[in-house]
Amino acid sequence: MGAKDCIFCKIADGSIPSSRVFEDSTLVAFNDLNPQAPTHILIVPREHIDSLDKAAESHTAILGHLLLTAADIARAKGFSNNGYRVVVNTNGDGGQTVFHLHVHLLAGRPFIFPPG
Ligand code: AMP
Ligand code: ZN
Repeated sequence: MGAKDCIFCKIADGSIPSSRVFEDSTLVAFNDLNPQAPTHILIVPREHIDSLDKAAESHTAILGHLLLTAADIARAKGFSNNGYRVVVNTNGDGGQTVFHLHVHLLAGRPFIFPPG
């Protein structure tokens, strides 16, 4: 059961289409509609959590699983050696636009730090 009108809840339950690259019982991973790198994948928990700011101790396992899944996908796609960028934009100054917690996996080009 997702939050009403949340686009990532709808992607997770399949009522909005996406290009899925991985899913399991607790999360889904799909290609970003507006990619910022040759590979740009979003990894989202099936449970609605507004943002990292709203994550609680009870989310410890899913937060770890989101990160390990990002690493698994990156490894499976052959990016381990060259590297990749994992990002969690949070609230306004963090550049968050969709308020359902998600991990960006960006790969396939070098990234500068700090980001803009
Ligand atoms: P953020 O700015 O961190 O909240 O990231 C939201 C991301 O969701 C952006 O990179 C968007 O391009 C992406 N996005 C928004 N709607 C969709 C969608 N329907 N399918 C795939 N990606 C989406
Ligand atoms: Zn949601």
